[in-house]
Amino acid sequence: MDQVILQGIPFDADERGLMELLRIRPGTKNASEFSSILAQAKTLARPKAAFGIATARTVDHDAVEIDGIRFTSRVVRINLEKAGVVFPFVATCGTELEDWSQGMTGMLHAFWADSLMLMALGSAVGVLESHLKERLGGGAALSTMNPGSLEDWPLGEQAALFRLLGDATEAVGARLTDKMVIRPLKSVSGISFVSEEGFTNCSLCPRQGCDSRRAPYDAGLYGKRYGL
Ligand code: SF4
Repeated sequence: MDQVILQGIPFDADERGLMELLRIRPGTKNASEFSSILAQAKTLARPKAAFGIATARTVDHDAVEIDGIRFTSRVVRINLEKAGVVFPFVATCGTELEDWSQGMTGMLHAFWADSLMLMALGSAVGVLESHLKERLGGGAALSTMNPGSLEDWPLGEQAALFRLLGDATEAVGARLTDKMVIRPLKSVSGISFVSEEGFTNCSLCPRQGCDSRRAPYDAGLYGKRYGL
């Protein structure tokens, strides 16, 4: 599988906007402490991402193979069968920020560091998406699936995804634990693909009260699009 490693991703954090988001009042002791933590994070942050370019091949109703690696999920099979070419990826805030965050003392500083790592991950995901859109041409409608987001594609499938990405995961400093958690913790993996009808994990996820929901739950979608 052809792979692309994206390094040197800038971490552009706007101090004023971040302070508003984190409810830090300008001119206070907290503001000056945050300013110093942000300066450290900006110096250290090395967000990274890697993706592959591959073809998905249907092997049965509930499975596809990509580069000889099997992924078991009805939704993955149907989404990727239509797409053909797929882009398995991993994006991370980088080990540099995670190592630094472990030296934080106090809950508030640890929370700020956590928020900055999340922002760095956002920078990595943003560059990855722009890269894929540029490669595919302006009008391409990109969708993404992530192992563990749906009952149909459980977290255990992360192991297959890491096998598929191979050396690329090491190149960006992402590793998978026995419990299928990616370290650094502020990392994300998945498969992107072109979908004219569009796909969002949240449309198939009935979880209530999720702050990260990006689309309403559609109770009939599984039966309509993914039923037998
Ligand atoms: S609703 Fe929340 S938990 Fe469910 S897929 Fe969307 S972001 Fe994930």
